[in-house]
Amino acid sequence: MLELRSVTAGYDRRAPAVRDVTLTVLPGESVGLLGPSGCGKSTLARVAALLHRPDSGEVVLDGTPVRHWRHRAPRELRTAVGVVFQQPRLSADPRLRLADLIAEPLRATGRRASAEDRVAELADTVGLTPDLLTRRPHEVSDGQLQRACVARALVLRPRWLICDEMTAMLDASTTAALVAVVEAYRTSTGAGLLAVAHDHTLLTRWCDRTVHWKTVTEPR
Ligand code: ADP
Repeated sequence: MLELRSVTAGYDRRAPAVRDVTLTVLPGESVGLLGPSGCGKSTLARVAALLHRPDSGEVVLDGTPVRHWRHRAPRELRTAVGVVFQQPRLSADPRLRLADLIAEPLRATGRRASAEDRVAELADTVGLTPDLLTRRPHEVSDGQLQRACVARALVLRPRWLICDEMTAMLDASTTAALVAVVEAYRTSTGAGLLAVAHDHTLLTRWCDRTVHWKTVTEPR
């Protein structure tokens, strides 16, 4: 299970962006978290992805309470979570060719040997043709770059996926394609998904269960 227990987090302890949020995702489940812009969804998504230390509360991943964050989180916890952000250009190293961008987590975890086959397989899954894999981010569209970012999120076969407004910048056909990729991955592997967005129609179509921000936050 991915458990967020009474999580309070933000950038200023006196005025946290996220207050007392409790939310659980079961293995194989897709949970949509719906809320207006600025309510704290991205901050919570970063906490769930072990990228932002909460001020209080707890994140428990498959029974293990998370004690360290970002690069200090133990590798077995870090690699259990894949994350896709809203803006692919902010999360992609502009110097890397798309093939290297997708393979980055493999190289970072010493699995370079398996990279070539895995990248080819995932590129096919997300709909990137081989010629695109040799390009750098500035030579591809936002949609193509987001396809690479989804492939990168799946490359280590995570048990948990966090998608933070993954499709907000995309056209309808790329949105449908990437949601289908995530769903195929989830149903074939039993991974759990937390999809955070402001788009009610998208989340209710995509997820097993959609919860509103107000219902996961304790009344002030
Ligand atoms: P959402 O994803 O729902 O739009 P965010 O989690 O991005 O909400 O933001 C919640 C609040 O935290 C907002 O008021 C935003 O301005 C603030 N915030 C977000 N990121 C930062 C940051 N890096 N430093 C300071 N404040 C931030």
